Amino acid sequence: MPTVFTHAVLAASAFSLVARGRRGARLGAVAAGLLSAAPDADVLWWGLTSYGEPWGHRGMTHSLVAAVVIGLLGALALRRRVHVPGGAWALFALLAALTATHGVLDAMTDGGRGVGFLLPFDETRTFLPLRPVPVAPISANLLNPRLWYVLGVETLLFWPLAALLAWSRPALGARRAALLIAGLLASAATWGVRIADRF
Ligand SMILES: [Zn+2]
Repeated sequence: MPTVFTHAVLAASAFSLVARGRRGARLGAVAAGLLSAAPDADVLWWGLTSYGEPWGHRGMTHSLVAAVVIGLLGALALRRRVHVPGGAWALFALLAALTATHGVLDAMTDGGRGVGFLLPFDETRTFLPLRPVPVAPISANLLNPRLWYVLGVETLLFWPLAALLAWSRPALGARRAALLIAGLLASAATWGVRIADRF
């Protein structure tokens, strides 16, 4: 998996792009971030089931069915306090889609098993053709050097995109614009290096 931080930052910034200026936009962004990290709850029963089984890591909780269920529960809980264009059904669709991005990011990692997108109907585990993301350690140890290495690479790969989503508005200040351009250039270079490494 990418780290939970990257899942959450990307989903929250994408949500804020849609909901900006609406009631409950900030609450919705926080919720979208948390929901997009939720599929990794499967590490709680790590060891009780093997990795490749339907309920193993990157299995059922990472499926598209789970994204729909999580999005539905999120929309039911938030529909009165969070408004997005299109109403409650759009909120459901947005939260489900952002939760589904979790599996897509996991399918871009260079380790572990693929993602069971089609569970419970099909147990096939899938990776995307391009896998530039270093796989994060499955550990809660914040002192693990591997965790910080992965977070550093993810920051270069994805966080400039998150900043673009969060900051895109008509009047972007010169300082933010410069930071964003530098970040996007660093991101493009890192993508290039990581993809070249795999071939
Ligand atoms: Zn995951």
